[in-house]
Amino acid sequence: MKRIVLTGFRGTGKTEIGRILAAQHRVAFLDTDSLIEQQTGRSIPDIFHEDGEERFRTIERDVIAGLPPADAVISTGGGAVVDPVNMAHLRRDSTVVLLTADLDTIEQRIARSPRPPLTNLPLREEIAEMLDRRRQNYRASADLCIDTSGTTPATAAVIINDRIGKGVPTPSARKEGLAFFRGGRLAAPALRRLEEVLASPPSDPLTRLLGVAGYPALHSRGPRLFNALFAEYGINCHYTFFEDPAIGRIMDLTRSLDVKGLSVTIPFKQDVMTLVDEVDEATRKIGAVNTVVFACGSATGYNTDWLGIRKPLVSLKGSKAVLLGAGGVASAAAFALVDLDMDVTILNRTPEKAKELAARTGCRWAAWDTFDQIHPDLVVNATPLGMEPDTRSPLRGEQVYPDLTVFDLVYTPPVTPLIEMALGRGCRTIQGTEMFIEQAKEQFWLFFGIDVPSETIRKYLS
Ligand code: NAP
Repeated sequence: MKRIVLTGFRGTGKTEIGRILAAQHRVAFLDTDSLIEQQTGRSIPDIFHEDGEERFRTIERDVIAGLPPADAVISTGGGAVVDPVNMAHLRRDSTVVLLTADLDTIEQRIARSPRPPLTNLPLREEIAEMLDRRRQNYRASADLCIDTSGTTPATAAVIINDRIGKGVPTPSARKEGLAFFRGGRLAAPALRRLEEVLASPPSDPLTRLLGVAGYPALHSRGPRLFNALFAEYGINCHYTFFEDPAIGRIMDLTRSLDVKGLSVTIPFKQDVMTLVDEVDEATRKIGAVNTVVFACGSATGYNTDWLGIRKPLVSLKGSKAVLLGAGGVASAAAFALVDLDMDVTILNRTPEKAKELAARTGCRWAAWDTFDQIHPDLVVNATPLGMEPDTRSPLRGEQVYPDLTVFDLVYTPPVTPLIEMALGRGCRTIQGTEMFIEQAKEQFWLFFGIDVPSETIRKYLS
């Protein structure tokens, strides 16, 4: 067996279920809270009371980093999943089982046990608040998700063992998945790997799929990047291409195959919004989803494009900016620029679309040929002009000047005609690859709760 790691809120059964699983698999049971108490000689409530939560989290991080790599069942403290460093240690060569329970059950189970103070709220409100705050972290941690509300620990252990033995997708779902990929345009080595993952019985029932959903999708660099990251972090997943003209078909398939996550690309970023169960606030405002996380039977849509645009521009907070384009990526860019308190004017080939996006995001808009009158500190190109094989630049040479920062979101080629021209004029330039790197970093965090250094992603893309 691989290490089994149990995550979840207090009162979801981690300790009892963990003991049962460890006895059944004849391996050690390690409870990180007990290890902390043994190592410090103090109780958890005492550490919280005397040294505060921050100190507790430091000790917890050290204990998790020191866990043996050997087969074992590990039960983690309820807040351990929030720390990306913990998640990198816990995920390595392990199956992570998220235990959940409803509010009433958790309240009833922990009402009489001593608890460290996480908030100043009464117990029930504190549970609701913490479940909400940690929701994304718990979901990212889950390879398997087991609701323990109506089960005994022994029954929960039976369910976990069954899923570990057989995997979640049914044989008919695996067959349907194989037919989908065999009917597509995948190259032979990519198809062979999927035939291993989806075989009945599978070579490893716990290998989970992720992928890029698009039409076309085969140009995506996602599989190369994510599969390299899975190898680096010891994660038992495989990332592939979900290429089909119908996003509805892709979503049905990904749900039945228990896919962990999707990156969503052209032309599905808007349409997929109606096919997920929920979206976060930023995504709703932007109106496009580029990331779907599946966990515990539901699909959540996110937009990480805006974070990928925002990160390289943080030092330009409050600047005067021009955004070229009013399509899907421009919407994410407008949201990012406004979030950085910039004074933004949107210019677009079709002015009505610039007007509509400006009204939606709190920006100005103007005719395309007014660029010279604005004299911005920053220009962001969110049109496809300059994308291979197009060699056009959205601006002419005389329109760029040395104190202008030029961010071209086009990343094929990495040095676009606009970037080349801006470099020649002494401008600060930011290439579209930076957006790709930062949005992929955010996706990885949403999928697995792990914070990958940007440099690691850059290394695998070069
Ligand atoms: P989109 O929704 O189709 O929008 C394209 C925008 O560009 C529209 O505003 C369109 O104007 C304008 N446009 C298209 N052709 C033009 C032309 N010949 N002259 C002037 N304007 C033109 O596309 P999108 O999803 O926003 O993607 C835009 C670009 O972003 C992509 O081509 C890609 O290079 C880049 N991108 C980069 C990343 C990254 O990670 N770096 C990720 C995704 C996309 P109209 O309204 O007049 O049609």
